[in-house]
Amino acid sequence: ATMPPLLSAIANAGRHGVLVKSAVVMERLGQTERVALDKTGTLTEGAPRVVSVEPAAGHAADEVLALAAGAERLSEHPLARAVVAAAQEKNVTIPAAEDFQSTPGHGVSATVGGREVAVASPRGTGAAEPDTGHTAVVVTVDGEVAGVIGIADRLRPDAAAAVSALRELTSAEPVLLTGDNERTAAKVAAEVGIADVRAGLLPADKVTAVREAAQPTMVIGDGVNDAPALAAAHCGVAMGRAGSDLALQTADVVVVRDELAAVPKVVGLSRRARRLVQ
Ligand code: ADP
Ligand code: MG
Repeated sequence: ATMPPLLSAIANAGRHGVLVKSAVVMERLGQTERVALDKTGTLTEGAPRVVSVEPAAGHAADEVLALAAGAERLSEHPLARAVVAAAQEKNVTIPAAEDFQSTPGHGVSATVGGREVAVASPRGTGAAEPDTGHTAVVVTVDGEVAGVIGIADRLRPDAAAAVSALRELTSAEPVLLTGDNERTAAKVAAEVGIADVRAGLLPADKVTAVREAAQPTMVIGDGVNDAPALAAAHCGVAMGRAGSDLALQTADVVVVRDELAAVPKVVGLSRRARRLVQ
């Protein structure tokens, strides 16, 4: 027997390295009229590196890095991995931590060497946004700012092409949704050609941004912080490599080979299959 068009489209998507979880999802992909993309790990590679450690008065850079790495060692966030890697590269001894807590879209906290350490977004702390276009995380020790760590991530090589292909396929303008600061968000948006940028968003704010439009909206993300938006989307798409377990489970589609440019291709496959079904 010949395979039904939506099932052969799923097989075809697989050849592009994209896992489509059901025939219903394969059909929904082609209904996409608006795309919302996360920044960190979605438009960027999700393999960020520490580029600066600026201690506050009375603190040393290595001390700030060591305490931050102690708190971040139990987090799977790409920024956490960058902080731990930087401490290891500098051969800084990372102290053991306890009472680890993580708040998606915000940061982490733990007791490190008997001190209360938090590593988190500068949002709402009054700490100035960096003017470099880097992501900044603020390290606080016993409630006082001890330093700021600057972190940079490379754009995916296929990000701009993927965004323009998605724009061609949809009726609404693509939108960038990120928990990162305005400046870093604006820089990435300009590089990929997105005009509608929302920065400083918490996970629930991403959901609101997805629901505010009437068009069926595809969300592409990778983080724990993206999971509620992936669930709220008409079609939720998770990036496979940087993707957190929660994002991969919540999403309807997983980009296993981790190529953003495969997403518009799969939307095209869906549209062709739907024409054959009708
Ligand atoms: P995005 O939406 O761009 O993927 P997230 O929502 O995961 O970003 O994170 C938003 C911001 O929250 C980050 O830019 C950072 O300032 C802060 N943050 C999140 N997780 C961590 C963490 N583990 N350590 C430090 N800061 C974090
Ligand atoms: Mg992300």
